[in-house]
Amino acid sequence: MSLIHPQAEFHPEPEDTARQWRHKLRREAGKLLPGERVASCGVKRTGEIVELWRDSAGGCYWKGVETCGSIWTCPVCSAKIAARRAEEVKALVQAHEKPGRAVYMATFTMRHSARDKVAETRATVTKAWSRMQAGKAWKGLKAHFHVMGTVRALEVTYGGNGWHPHLHVLFFTDRPLGELGERRLADRLFDRWHGIIDRMGGTTERGGFDFRKASDATTAAEYVAKWGAGYEVAKGPLKEAAGCSVWDLLKRSTNGDHLAGVLFMKYAKAFKGARHLTYSRGLRERYDLRDPAEDLDLALDGEEGGERVDPETGEVINTEAGCLYTVDSVRWSFVCRMKATALLLDIAREEGRQGVENWFDQHHATSPYRPEDFGPKRPRREKRIYREALDRRTGARTAAEVAAEAKSYVRKHDEEQAMREAFRRDPYEVFDRLDDRLRR
Ligand SMILES: [Zn+2]
Repeated sequence: MSLIHPQAEFHPEPEDTARQWRHKLRREAGKLLPGERVASCGVKRTGEIVELWRDSAGGCYWKGVETCGSIWTCPVCSAKIAARRAEEVKALVQAHEKPGRAVYMATFTMRHSARDKVAETRATVTKAWSRMQAGKAWKGLKAHFHVMGTVRALEVTYGGNGWHPHLHVLFFTDRPLGELGERRLADRLFDRWHGIIDRMGGTTERGGFDFRKASDATTAAEYVAKWGAGYEVAKGPLKEAAGCSVWDLLKRSTNGDHLAGVLFMKYAKAFKGARHLTYSRGLRERYDLRDPAEDLDLALDGEEGGERVDPETGEVINTEAGCLYTVDSVRWSFVCRMKATALLLDIAREEGRQGVENWFDQHHATSPYRPEDFGPKRPRREKRIYREALDRRTGARTAAEVAAEAKSYVRKHDEEQAMREAFRRDPYEVFDRLDDRLRR
């Protein structure tokens, strides 16, 4: 039985750019996970002002706001991490490439049912991989097939059979294996995996095991690092049998599918702290490559080719980056309230500084501040006067009106609110309750 509401079909708005979608989904993730870093990603200021930057390639991004770097829960950060991690892996595969050497791609799965808890299946899959790599048998297998290292990536989808955590693994071999050798390596790997999963109380099928030679470095890199990058692919209706991505759950949640939102929360809890990608010991050192970058470092800087650091040399690419526009704190909260963080970047990219200015003018959001106000500290009273002046000019509602609306919202979404509070107390209790309700 599927846990996703069939009536909550997802309808994308065609005029939205990919970036606007990512920002929208990030806001949704922040709503579902109010205590997590993703809730302040791209919104919370790190200083008094926020700057809109453009690099020499025309890519635009905000400077002066927080970056969460969460590969599992942030659609904006995970897309950046995926793209840059792929470059990192690609450099490794290219360093390995030499006649006689090869890279193989394998997917390890286990059978799962809708009743399985995501935290448990995730733990089983990652533990099984640690066991896979331990002991004499693994050493023997590696020596026999000249496997000198692996890169392992953890992924998860959600489908008709519930959560489906699985591993994508690259095997780096030193000698040619030949067709027969390849088949025997595949058999040995599957048998070992099957035995381990079996001992851990799970089952796995040969049909779920995929093993093939990587045709080139890009293919191999994308095989392990595509997580977070490919969510646009499934913009249309979801094919549940194939499983949907966690970003699809977020999309459904924006569309009012409460259960999809809860599933996302459940997943976020289970994957918090899990490593997405690991290199086997000594693999990168063998080619004198730098230590792999942390997720957060990969998520920093600009997006879409913004100011970037070369993953291998550490040098900054695009040094001609410059500040295009400055937004003060009051207008920044206006931008966030209008949910225009992505829209303004798109405008800046298309129309430049003038376009951004026009947008603020159209919304009568001219700055109440004078340039000298950007000093180290403004008196609080003065700040309040400015804010009121701006609110009058933007036609914003009074504080009482806002409070009344918030109250009615809470009343209307009473169940949701209660659910979230219960989630903070004990998430599993909420999930169990929901699961029970669905099975009835
Ligand atoms: Zn983020």
